[in-house]
Amino acid sequence: MSSGQRFVSIRQNILRRVFWSALVCSSLGVLIQTLSIYSSENERFHQLTVWIGETQVPLLTLGLWDIELEPLQQQLQQLADRPEIERVVLETPFQLRLSAGRPASKQYSDAQLPIPHPYNPQQVLGTLHIYTYSTSLYERVFQSAIWSILEIALITLLIGAAIAYPMHHQLGRPLRRIAQYATKLAPDKPQPPLKLCRSEKDYYDEIDLVAHGFETLRQSLQQYAHERDQALAALAYERDQLDRRVALRTAALQRINGYLDLFSRTLMQCVHLPVDQYQSKLYWALQELSEYIDASVCALAEEKDQHWQWLVVYPEATPMPQYVPEQFEPVPDGWEYSSSLDVWVYCLRNQDGGSLLWLQGVRLASSVDERRYQQMAAKMLFSLLERWQHARALEVSHKELERLSFSDALTGLANRRRFNEQYRQELQRAYRHNTALSVLMIDIDYFKAYNDHYGHGQGDQCLVQIGQCLLNSFQRAGELPARLGGEEFVVLLPYCDAAKAQRAAERLRWTVEALAIEHLGAPLGQVTVSVGFASLQRPQEASHHMNLLEIADKALYMAKAAGRNTVCG
Ligand code: GH3
Ligand code: MG
Ligand code: MG
Repeated sequence: MSSGQRFVSIRQNILRRVFWSALVCSSLGVLIQTLSIYSSENERFHQLTVWIGETQVPLLTLGLWDIELEPLQQQLQQLADRPEIERVVLETPFQLRLSAGRPASKQYSDAQLPIPHPYNPQQVLGTLHIYTYSTSLYERVFQSAIWSILEIALITLLIGAAIAYPMHHQLGRPLRRIAQYATKLAPDKPQPPLKLCRSEKDYYDEIDLVAHGFETLRQSLQQYAHERDQALAALAYERDQLDRRVALRTAALQRINGYLDLFSRTLMQCVHLPVDQYQSKLYWALQELSEYIDASVCALAEEKDQHWQWLVVYPEATPMPQYVPEQFEPVPDGWEYSSSLDVWVYCLRNQDGGSLLWLQGVRLASSVDERRYQQMAAKMLFSLLERWQHARALEVSHKELERLSFSDALTGLANRRRFNEQYRQELQRAYRHNTALSVLMIDIDYFKAYNDHYGHGQGDQCLVQIGQCLLNSFQRAGELPARLGGEEFVVLLPYCDAAKAQRAAERLRWTVEALAIEHLGAPLGQVTVSVGFASLQRPQEASHHMNLLEIADKALYMAKAAGRNTVCG
C-alpha cells in the first residue's frame, strides 16, 4: 500500500463490476432483441404481402376489370383497417386512383403489388401501394429495449443487494477487523485473542482460516516475546554474573599485583645482601607483609635440632609467639599448616630442618586464593631465610678458609704469608708514627738430630710445644709470633725498641729452656733455641730502609755461631 493509493472496498469493487457487467449484458440483450424484433416484423410484413397478393390482388383484378369502384373502395378500406397497415393506394394507368386509411406519413410505400390483367398475365391493370406504420417497428424495438434494460437493472440491483449485504457482513467487516487487529499485533504489546462477532455456524470459511492464522501468529508472537524476555533476563543475569566475576577477578589480580609488587621489592632489596643486613631486611619484609595482609603479628622461625627458634618477629615489641605447633597438618606440595583462632601458620620442612611463617590476627578473609598468596609469600621469605643461612655458612667457611690460609697447620701460629702481611703494615705504621719495631728470629738448635733421634712425629710434637710457648709468651696487642717454615719461627714486636727486644728474646730462650724437652742429641741434653733480633728505633731518622728480617736472620746466624742457646742482636 503506497500513500498515493486510495482505498476501494472489495464490496464496492465487486458491485461496480457487477454494474458494468449488467450494463454490457443489457446492451447486448437490447441489441439482440432489436435485431430479432426487426427480423420478425419483416417476416410478418412479407407474409402479409404474400397473403394480400394471393387473396386480395385477384379480387382487385376483378374489380378493376369490371370497373366497380364501390367494391374496390370497400376492399381497400378492409385492407387499410388492418392494424399494421396505415394506408393503401391503388393506381391505374388510366387515371384511376383509389386510396384508403390515414394520410401517409412517408413519401414512398413499403410494398408495391402489381394488379395483373385477368386474361393476359403479361399486362398490368394497376399497382397497389401499401404503406405500413413506420413508427410501429421502432416503438416496439424501443419498448422492448426499455423493458430489457429495466429487467436487467432490476436483476442487477437485486443481485447487487444480495451480494453487498453478505459481502459486507461476511467479508468486508471481518477483514477490516482483522486488518485493524493485525496492525496492533507486536511482540511487545500483548493482545487479547481476535473476536470477529460472527454468527455461530457449523462450518468454517476463508475468514475463519485467516482469523485462525492471525491467532496462531498472535500466539507465536506471545511465545516469541516470552522466550525473548526469558533470554534477555538470562542474558542480564549472565551479564551480572560476568560483571561480578570480572570484579572478583580484577580484585584478585590487584591482590596478586600487590603481592608481586611486595615480592619484587623485597627480592630487589635482598640482592647481594651482606649477612649482617638479612635480619633487618627480613624485618622490613615482615612489616610490609603484615601491612599488606592486615596482620597484627608476623614472625619467622627456623627449626634447629627439632626446636623452633624465632629469627624475626614483627613488631619487635611483640612477645615471641607462644605456641608453635609441633604437629602440622600436611597439605600438598610438601606444605604443612596449622590454623587456630586467629593464627595462620605456614611451614615447609626438608631434611635439614624447617621454616615457619606465623601470621596472627589477619583481618582479611583468608580465602583459598589468599592463603595461596600467603603461601607464596612464605615461600619467598623461606627462600630468603635459606639464602641467609647459606650466607652465614659461607661467611663461616670463608673465615675458616681465611684462617687456614693465614695460619700454620701444625702449630696454629700465623704462617709466613700472614706474618709478611702484618710485618708490612707494622713497618708502614712505624715509619708513619716514627715508632720502634723489632723482630725476633728463632731457630731450634740441633733439630735435625732431634728428628733423627726421636722420629719425625716426635719432632712435630716438639714444634707444637715451641709454638705454644711462643703464643703464650707474646700475647700483647700487635705482637705476632709466626712459623716461617721447618723449625724456624719469627716474632713481630711493634712499639718495641732494641732493649725490649733483647729482653723478650732472652725471656723466650729461657722459657724454652725451662720447658726442659729432652734432646739427647744436643750438648745440653734438652731442646734449646737460638734467637737473633733486630730493631728499628726511630724509622724517620734512618738514612735508608732497613730489612729487619734479614738483619735478624744474620743475628740468628751469629747466635748459632756463638754456640747456640744464645741471643744476638
Ligand atoms: P742448627 O739449627 O742448630 O744449626 O742445626 P739443625 O739440625 O737444626 O740444622 P738444620 O736447620 O739444617 O735442620 C733442620 C731440620 O729440621 C731439618 C729437618 O729434618 C727438620 N725439619 C724441618 N721441618 C720439619 C718439620 O716440619 N717437622 C719435623 N719433625 N722436622 C722438620
Ligand atoms: Mg734451621
Ligand atoms: Mg735448627
